[in-house]
Amino acid sequence: MNVLEVESLTKHFPIRAGLLQREVGRIRAVDRVSFHVARGETLALVGESGCGKTTVARCILRALAPTSGAIRFTQEGGEIVDLAPLSRRALRPIRRQMQMIFQDPYASLNPRMLVGDIIAEPLLVNGVPAATRQARVLELLELVGLPAVARSRFPFAFSGGQRQRIGIARALALNPSLIVADEPVSALDVSVQAQIINLLLDLQDRLRLSMLFVAHDLGVVRHVSDRVAVMYVGRIVETGPTTALYDRPLHPYTAALMASVPKPDPDRRDATPPLAGDVADAANIPPGCAFHPRCPHAVARCREIRPELRETIPGRMTACHRAEELTLAGVD
Ligand code: SF4
Repeated sequence: MNVLEVESLTKHFPIRAGLLQREVGRIRAVDRVSFHVARGETLALVGESGCGKTTVARCILRALAPTSGAIRFTQEGGEIVDLAPLSRRALRPIRRQMQMIFQDPYASLNPRMLVGDIIAEPLLVNGVPAATRQARVLELLELVGLPAVARSRFPFAFSGGQRQRIGIARALALNPSLIVADEPVSALDVSVQAQIINLLLDLQDRLRLSMLFVAHDLGVVRHVSDRVAVMYVGRIVETGPTTALYDRPLHPYTAALMASVPKPDPDRRDATPPLAGDVADAANIPPGCAFHPRCPHAVARCREIRPELRETIPGRMTACHRAEELTLAGVD
């Protein structure tokens, strides 16, 4: 069963200019994006900075209103609701079932609140009695590997990794059906990243979390996700099971992203060169395939016709005119 189904999600931002602030263009941050997250599954949404992945996450949590599309969420009782057209008031009882882990553990915790109060805040807002709140805070601190004494300290007393544990405890307080994690380890040191990834893996096992994991770091994504959706300039260009996608990326952009990941063995060389050039401007997307100015395999039709996402091989979706050819030719 799917916890989340996103269909043709689109988010455009108007560009205004002049005295009358007339609309003179549009930033197509997200353009007809579709995917699902099954119960107990982690889907990673990856791509370079500016590809639209964080905008997708913010639309799902309705921090941004989508321009069009559907965001179908399965509630605790099994009822499916489209979040896209809901008012703030109608969203309120549903929001407790969807929680976010933020990128910056320094900015996301109120420095004037005790850690126990930070973790208990969602419980308080949802009317959970004081005694139950206290017991739940202790349970959550243990779950994320922090001592009980942490509840009576302020965030400044903790390291970045410990603060992210506090953020995770807060996100889990109400037993949400879906966690949206927006670059949850990118602000941390590499050694601390591994600890937080291990914590997330442990929590996935213990709680069967359903998670949308937004990240630019493919090295991180490999460990935490069951499936991956790769975004480029507002659109999904490839999806597939994590192991299959890492073993054999089918879209040239995915292959180039992977070639850009630092390898443990410096002598190992990829057949594909790492990404060159800059990501396209979402206010001025190239015609045809948006990736064609950077793609070493571009041909004439790539510059004219926009490729749609389609099943290239069973279980693998790719938006590339030449996906079959390049796969058969063994080109990474
Ligand atoms: Fe490259 Fe063409 Fe495929 Fe786009 S459609 S990724 S330009 S080969």
